[in-house]
Amino acid sequence: MSYVDEVYNYVVEKNPAQPEFHQAVKEVLDSLRVVIDANEEEYRKDALLERLVTPERQILFRVPWVDDKGQVQVNNGFRVQFNSAIGPYKGGLRFHPSVNLGIIKFLGFEQIFKNSLTGLPIGGGKGGSDFDPKGKSDREIMAFCQSFMTELFRHIGADTDVPAGDIGVGGREIGYMYGQYKRIRDTYEGVLTGKGLTYGGSLARTQATGYGLLYLTAELLKCNGSDIKGKTVCVSGAGNVAIYAIEKAQQLGAKVVTCSDSTGWIYDSEGIDVALLKEVKEVKRARLTEYAAARKSAEYHEGRGVWSIKCDVALPCATQNELHLEDAKQLVANGVQAVCEGANMPTTIEATEYLQENKVMFVGGKAANAGGVATSALEMSQNSERLHWTFEEVDAKLQQIMVNIYHNIDDAAKKYGMEGNYVAGANIAGFLKVAEAMKAQGIV
Ligand code: NDP
Repeated sequence: MSYVDEVYNYVVEKNPAQPEFHQAVKEVLDSLRVVIDANEEEYRKDALLERLVTPERQILFRVPWVDDKGQVQVNNGFRVQFNSAIGPYKGGLRFHPSVNLGIIKFLGFEQIFKNSLTGLPIGGGKGGSDFDPKGKSDREIMAFCQSFMTELFRHIGADTDVPAGDIGVGGREIGYMYGQYKRIRDTYEGVLTGKGLTYGGSLARTQATGYGLLYLTAELLKCNGSDIKGKTVCVSGAGNVAIYAIEKAQQLGAKVVTCSDSTGWIYDSEGIDVALLKEVKEVKRARLTEYAAARKSAEYHEGRGVWSIKCDVALPCATQNELHLEDAKQLVANGVQAVCEGANMPTTIEATEYLQENKVMFVGGKAANAGGVATSALEMSQNSERLHWTFEEVDAKLQQIMVNIYHNIDDAAKKYGMEGNYVAGANIAGFLKVAEAMKAQGIV
């Protein structure tokens, strides 16, 4: 049996009931076969892959808090510090009822390669809780965030582990957690990213993942003889990534006709009105039905359906496993040219394979959504320097990083005889740097 298959079986056996983690490992290891087979003896002896798939540290903790009725609630808290070979652990915190250890491990594992791809010195980690922020009052959110940080603070630090936001964790939650960290530690340091602009946050961090996704998509199209300008784009999600992906796509001259949330989706034949979407989602924190009610050209549909709309470019920006095989078939039948992932692992393995087999340009989240973490690393740099860069400076660096990522993954795919396979290119380019650092640092 090949080393890759052995290690995949080892992961399944050692981590039962964690299907998302198995899926993430399978996707990465399968695309690394050519590199691993070429170095099998050395990697095997050093148990490099076994070390790579085993987190350096996993922290599980209780998060008790009191709701507005005076009732004590208990949630589970997680922080998985996966790999620090190339820098301090870096990765977001997700608050969503679906969160469990397997989901955090899948995200933390992917984060290792994504962070490596940015070219910046950041290791991989991820955390979160099964807490559901939906419908909670501001006071309840603060109570939860303070309790969460009352345990997490002892495991993180500006040079150790620097969490950020993810699903359910935006500026408000980061603010409450940062306040509690500072109070306990009595230290003003860049321990979290995604902070507010008045206390160490970076301009353009809010926009970074969505904007970065479009910078990479535009470069992908340009280098393949096409242009983002004039394209029809379908986006899923209506959160941080989706909103700023829609905004940048429109700035670049594309027309975005869909968005979605966990209950339904919008088709807007005139193109999504970003100002209205921000009002509904960022200010009112309401459902998309309110968007449809305020706009004549918009249709609201319950459930899933974004991928049934004809488009040139599809950008899944909601959550994992939201683009299935039948969606991929529909997209191909409708003539889609490119699919770039704003979310983490939104496309199932079968759907990815179908898109690739049908010559759709496909860029996975590790490369396509790396703009968020890259700008978080720029926030860390500004905090260390005690400086504040302008929006234009940060945005220009972000754009350059995304263009570089595209060329790195394209070059890696070509070098290993898989031209156009950007998934393999991203995994190989991200892996090689981490593997080399792990080798240089000995058996730790
Ligand atoms: P948000 O919480 O801001 O938005 C998530 C969006 O996806 C919301 O519209 C939400 O709907 C929808 N959604 C969440 N869960 C589900 C579900 N189970 N089914 C259908 N829709 C769902 O999160 P972000 O925009 O920050 O994150 C989106 C994705 O991007 C995630 O995969 C995240 O890991 C990834 N990502 C985020 C980065 C960032 O900088 N924020 C960086 C890199 C990746 P509703 O409004 O109903 O909750």
